[in-house]
This record gives sequence, structure tokens and C-alpha cells, in this order.
Amino acid sequence: MNITKLPNIINDINTVLLPRLCFGCNARLYRGEQILCTLCRDQLPLTEFNFSEENRLDRTFYGRIEIKKAASFLYYLETGIVKNLIHYLKYKNQPQVGNFLADWYGSILKEDPGLPSIDYVIPVPLHPRKLRKRGYNQVAGFGERLAYHLHAKYADDILLKTSHTRTQTRKSRIIRWQHQKPLFTISQKEALKGKKLLLVDDVVTTGATLEACAMALYQCKDSTIYLATMAMVP
Ligand SMILES: [Zn+2]
Repeated sequence: MNITKLPNIINDINTVLLPRLCFGCNARLYRGEQILCTLCRDQLPLTEFNFSEENRLDRTFYGRIEIKKAASFLYYLETGIVKNLIHYLKYKNQPQVGNFLADWYGSILKEDPGLPSIDYVIPVPLHPRKLRKRGYNQVAGFGERLAYHLHAKYADDILLKTSHTRTQTRKSRIIRWQHQKPLFTISQKEALKGKKLLLVDDVVTTGATLEACAMALYQCKDSTIYLATMAMVP
């Protein structure tokens, strides 16, 4: 037997013994399929938001903080493919889901005339305790691959999570905002001065986390913040 063919043979045996499954529906993946089966890919609820026209994610931030423009790739519904994908990404040690989404979304964003040349792609940071537990920031792969497609720098050492956590959950957003210490801080104010930043996250629900991140990033003068997330709750 030709020894160089051994890895291929082992791969084929693995495929038979441990079939790769679709993260959307658990169906067996065929050769050439990655992460999602063809059926799930066709059924993904794309938002079709772009960086030219106003969308409902932009409207989420009106009157709260100035985000230059925001977009989400997918709709996050209560059940279904997107929820399953994000679950694998966050809780089942499958960081490659983020890369998969970024390769798809990145190919769309780099053709989007509304999105200017971005200097830094910045992920929403995880609390160090969560990072230790999960072993990776679930937004890292997404951010790195988007940066690659947009010819931007990926910077995960500028925006940092402080040790403060949200405790006064019963109070209104305004009161909490007034009483809380910042949740995020930045390490290098000078580096971001006058730069175009793309802040990235997994799923937007209320937008409170992104609002807090943007607040920290605006400590650098003249920077402009754009926002891109994997998904949003409609
Ligand atoms: Zn599927």
C-alpha cells in the first residue's frame, strides 16, 4: 500500500465511523458540504441588510449612541438553523462556525459600496472568566475572517472587558447607565484616533452590550464606528 494515501484512507474510515453532521438540522453532510447541508444553506434567514440603506438594526441605536451604520447577516429566530449554529459556536466547542459565517458574510460586505475601507475589526470582548471556561471568544473567528476579507487589521487587544458586571437588572436602562461603572475600556486611545472601526458581535438582542462597547470606543477622538453581527433578534 502507498503510505502517502494512508491519511486519506483514515479520513474515509473516520467519515464512515463518525459521520459529519449538519449544525443546522443534524442530517449527515455529504462530501463537499461544510457546517451546513445544502438544504439548510438555502433556508438560512438572511437579513439582506446593507451599509447603504437604513435598517432595523440602525434604528435600535437611535437616541442611544451614534453608530455610523450597522448590519446583521442573519435573523436569529426562537428555533431553527441560526439558533442551532450559534449554539454549536458558543457551547459545543465549534469555533469554525464563526469562520464559516464570516467567509460568507465577508464576500458580501467587501462588495458593499456603503461600507468604507475599515481600519480595525474589533470583537466584543469576553469576560476573562468566560474566556477561560469556553477556551475561545466565539466572535474571534468571525472577526478575524471578516478582517481578512475587508483587508483590515483584527484587533482584540484594544477594547477590553472590565471586571464590573451588570447587577442592578431591575432598574431601568437609564438609571443603570447612570450608576454603573464602565463595562468596557480601551487600552490604546491613540491607536484608534481618526480610524474607521468595525465592531463585531454574535447576536444582537437589546443592543446594550454593543452600546457599552461603542461608548468605550468613543473615548478616542474622531473614530467612526460601524457594526456587523452574525445575527439579530428580529
Ligand atoms: Zn441541515
